[in-house]
Amino acid sequence: MKRQVLYIAGHTGLVGSALLRRTIRDENYAVITRTRAELDLMNSDSVAEFMQQESPDRVIIAAGRVGGILANQTYCGEFIHQNLTIQNNLIHQSMKAGVKSLVFLGSSCMYPKHCPQPMSESALLTGLLEETNLPYAIAKISGWGMCQAYNQQYGMNYMTAIPANLYGRNDNFHPQDSHVIPGMIRRFHEAKIQQLKEVVVWGTGKPKREFLLSDDLADALLFLLEKNYHSSQPINIGSGQEVSISELAETIKEIVGFDGHLIFDTHKPDGMPLKRLDNSQMEKLAWSAKTSLAEGIQKVYEWCLNSKIFEKIPFY
Ligand code: GDP
Repeated sequence: MKRQVLYIAGHTGLVGSALLRRTIRDENYAVITRTRAELDLMNSDSVAEFMQQESPDRVIIAAGRVGGILANQTYCGEFIHQNLTIQNNLIHQSMKAGVKSLVFLGSSCMYPKHCPQPMSESALLTGLLEETNLPYAIAKISGWGMCQAYNQQYGMNYMTAIPANLYGRNDNFHPQDSHVIPGMIRRFHEAKIQQLKEVVVWGTGKPKREFLLSDDLADALLFLLEKNYHSSQPINIGSGQEVSISELAETIKEIVGFDGHLIFDTHKPDGMPLKRLDNSQMEKLAWSAKTSLAEGIQKVYEWCLNSKIFEKIPFY
């Protein structure tokens, strides 16, 4: 394989950093990254200039505004504006610079609220969306629509990958804004240190989710790029493992070593009752995720302790 010039947009984040770990020492790739100070992805002129100068072979869009169920509700305007702007700039300027191959990251919240489970790619746009993350989901659906249209009009290979609920290193560990796994790891850890008797879990604990480690997603994306996978239809990438939020809480409690009780705060939203991807397309390509949930959480917790992440983001 000729050395591919790969631009990872969002290389410091959850997915981008996993991609960087995988490619930085891989002789098949010459990786380009830019910090937020070096390149403002909200600014179309700056993105245009960067793309014209660097003209990468491949672009992976792992940049955007993400957050958990409460952050999606609180900052719904910022979520739709920032995601639409960043993806528009990157997809459009990639096309103008002649970038043939691009990966856009979708989200399982693009699927209808009452989607038959497991959610198959053919169910997209067949029903109403879940309200708790509607603006974010609309931005993601628009990104897919743009990739599809650019493939059709300009002959590009811009694909959309829909990952299951992600977790991993460099996630957001903010107590209110994070997703459930980093939020719980942190809460259980602090409860252990402070010798508390109880930890609060949001919602009823009944919703079910499929979780995927960011390193497994990075592996899948590079696998698709290396295969020259080509489709305007999104492709699901999951782990095939589904757990309830209460089972997840028990797993994290054990890994962190907290020995108190769980309290369920039913005033907090549950979101979708069940989210599980139909992974048959990736299975057909003979790809599957390698890391079990307990193994993945163990790895992330070790990373948290080694990187002292909790001390860097204090509770408030
Ligand atoms: P989403 O609902 O799939 O978009 O993602 P989240 O990760 O934000 O939430 C998943 C589920 O975990 C929801 O049912 C939440 O109510 C529940 N949950 C329980 N504790 C927490 C927590 O500390 N943070 C978050 N974000 N969700 C939690």
